[in-house]
Amino acid sequence: MSRIFLKSAAVAFASVAVSLLLTLIIVPAIGFPFNRTIWLTSTVCPLALAWIASAYTFWQSERLKSAHRDLARAHAQLAAAHRRLSEKVSRDDMTGMLNRESFFAALEASRRKSDRGALLIIDADHFKIINDSYGHLTGDEALLLIASAIERGVRSGDVIGRIGGEEFGAFLVGATEQEAKRVAERIRGEVELIRFRPVDERVIPLTVSIVGVTCGEDAGVSDLMRAADRCLYQAKHRGRNLTILDRDISEAA
Ligand code: GH3
Ligand code: MG
Ligand code: MG
Repeated sequence: MSRIFLKSAAVAFASVAVSLLLTLIIVPAIGFPFNRTIWLTSTVCPLALAWIASAYTFWQSERLKSAHRDLARAHAQLAAAHRRLSEKVSRDDMTGMLNRESFFAALEASRRKSDRGALLIIDADHFKIINDSYGHLTGDEALLLIASAIERGVRSGDVIGRIGGEEFGAFLVGATEQEAKRVAERIRGEVELIRFRPVDERVIPLTVSIVGVTCGEDAGVSDLMRAADRCLYQAKHRGRNLTILDRDISEAA
């Protein structure tokens, strides 16, 4: 408030100075004699009018600034809430990994930047038996352990997601076939090493079958998934707990 008072006072006194200057120039120019009325009019009028008008203008401007600050704060809060919400809807509740939709969107985005890379599909073996024997909650615990083994197995910058119930995807950005094989074997080994003992001393063995498809330049996501599904069928058929890497998708198709 005192800032508004001081600023409007400064404007009022500047107006009085300009008014006096103009009076000093105009009054003699038109041949009028100086008298008290002229001095009073040229000081009091600008002083009162400019003070009131500028005080009102500054007050309005302060109110606008404060409303603008409130709006900016509300906007920042909304943006943060939006970020949190979109982060939440893109994640799988149980594992915290990207969900199926977001995983494939991230894969597409990564493919747009670089045409090289490999897609791994990691499927838990005989998972139904774990659920049937120990219950769904125990199955969930096992899934969480498998998910963290996958997180440990991939390289930083790779995209991982839960693409189905007991099925995970990892896109190894820029990976060659050899690198993909190494990562797939590392994940398989990490899962195999898990000592899962949810009920008693008995260890429930956990294993995964992993298939990998290295990406050719023109291969779309559905081509990659088709090839991966074929490989997964083979991996299950050959006895599970193994990794199979397809060559290039163009050869696989
Ligand atoms: P395979 O080695 O051939 O992959 O056998 P599988 O039993 O793993 O495969 P199948 O497709 O027959 O069964 C998948 C099982 O995974 C059945 C389903 O109940 C279980 N599953 C899927 N999602 C979840 C989940 O979120 N939690 C638990 N506990 N189980 C799940
Ligand atoms: Mg399975
Ligand atoms: Mg499956």
